[in-house]
Formats: sequence, C-alpha cells, structure tokens
Amino acid sequence: MASQLRLRSALALVTGAGGGIGRAISARLAREGAAVAVCDLDGAAARETVRLLGGPGREDHAAFQADVSEAGAARRLLEQVQACFSRPPSVVVSCAGITRDEFLLYMSEGDWDRVVAVNLKGTFLVTQAAAQALVSSGCPGSIINISSIVGKVGNMGQTNYAASKAGVIGLTQTVARELGRHGIRCNSVLPGFIATPMTDKMPQKVKDKVTGMIPMGHLGDPEDVADVVAFLASGDSGYITGASVEVTGGLFM
Ligand code: NAP
Repeated sequence: MASQLRLRSALALVTGAGGGIGRAISARLAREGAAVAVCDLDGAAARETVRLLGGPGREDHAAFQADVSEAGAARRLLEQVQACFSRPPSVVVSCAGITRDEFLLYMSEGDWDRVVAVNLKGTFLVTQAAAQALVSSGCPGSIINISSIVGKVGNMGQTNYAASKAGVIGLTQTVARELGRHGIRCNSVLPGFIATPMTDKMPQKVKDKVTGMIPMGHLGDPEDVADVVAFLASGDSGYITGASVEVTGGLFM
C-alpha cells in the first residue's frame, strides 16, 4: 500500500494537525513515508501529534504553532517549515477549522468573523504562501483543503460555518484553474459527520438524528477522511484537480 501511493520523498504540511482529523491525516501521510510538518494553534497538541507519529521516520517530523487566520503567522509558518526541511512542502493540507454555531437571527458579527477568518481566510493564507513557495522553487505539489458537506447543502445554525466551507470549495476550484500549469493540483474534501472533538460538542439527540440519515448508518472516523487525503496527496490522483470529494457515508448524496 505505502509504495503504491508514492509519498516516500514528500514533505507534507498539515494545519489543524492537533485535532481529530488533522492528526489522523498526519499519521496516514507519515505511514506512507512522508515527512510531516505538523501545525496547530495549540503548539502542545501539535507536539503530541508528532510524538504519536512514531515509527522509523519519526525524526523526520516537526511541530509548528501558528494561527492560520493571521497573514504574518501563515507566512512565517511557511518560512519556518522551509528552514526546517530545506524545501517547500509538496503536500499542503488545510485542516484547521472551528465552529461557532447559532441561528442566523441571533448570530453575532464576532462569531461570523472568527469562523470565516479561520476556515476561509486561513485556508487562503496557507494556500497562497505554500503556492508562492512551490511556484518560485519550480516544484509540483498537491494542495488539499478540508471543506465540509455543509458547504454544499447548508446546515441549521451554521450560516457562518457553511458559508466558510462553501468558500473553500470556490477557492479550491479557482486555485486548481490558476496553478494547473505549474503542476500544482488543488482539491477539496467534504467530510460529513466524523467522530472528533468537533462533533463531540453536538447534543446526543442531534447526533442520533443525523446518524439516522446516513445511509451507512454511522458517523465516519477521522481515518476515513485521512485515506482520501492520502490518495489526493499522491501521484495516484495525478489527473484530479478542482474536485470536491465527499466522505459522508452517503449523507446528502
Ligand atoms: P478539531 O478536532 O476541533 O480540530 C481542529 C483543529 O484546528 C484543532 O486542533 C484546533 O486547535 C485547530 N485550529 C483552530 N483554529 C486554528 C487556527 N486559527 N490556526 C491553526 N489551527 C487552528 O476538529 P476536526 O473535527 O478534526 O475538524 C478538522 C477539519 O475538518 C475542520 O476544518 C472541520 O471544519 C472539518 N470538518 C469536520 C467534520 C467533523 O464532522 N468533525 C465534518 C466536516 C468538516 P484548538 O483545539 O487549539 O482550537
């Protein structure tokens, strides 16, 4: 399996890598032989992810603390990663994301701004900084942005989150159009409901209702998302760009 994915000499940057899905993505890419630059707002969580990666290539990985919603921090992150590994990351996964749920009628401007700042602007800033580094070094790459199925279909109480994730899809498609000629692919992944600290916050009643709507009958695991990211990171998806891949167990097909 590992050799089939051809990630052995890749350097991958994963944001939000201290969280449920980002940690699983980091682990999967590391298992495929990639060196992983593990980034999170919470530096201790990023270091814990690096510790968990283990294995023979453990020393290949490094942790970075950054708030992806700040332009200076995103730029410095790419500089630090390049300084640490002496090359730009050829695989870039924007997984940092937050929710601040409230119905439209009551949502504060602050909650709107923060969710859009992290989920959409953060993805833009990291994608831009990584693309600039790749284009100036002449290296090909694969950029993968974690959107959400609710960016496609909306969700009660999530105008900010759904709008930010819909924005990620549009951003991804545009980046795919602009950077294809540089050998840089850009795809988004749309998870459905995945069992992580983010969905732990949902009331059990809501979780039960959602589960009843999923054709496969259960929430996804972070590894289900990581498997698709590993495919999109690898040469096995070499002719796929601008795609939005749903990992939902069939929800909202
Ligand atoms: P999670 O466990 O909460 O992980 C998200 C991670 O992002 C956390 O470690 C968080 O750090 C970090 N983060 C937050 N703000 C950041 C910032 N400004 N800069 C850098 N890192 C930041 O959530 P998850 O479920 O793994 O979600 C990962 C991604 O998948 C998100 O983009 C989410 O929207 C998307 N997604 C999740 C689901 C799901 O069902 N779980 C479904 C669809 C899409 P802190 O803990 O310090 O805040």
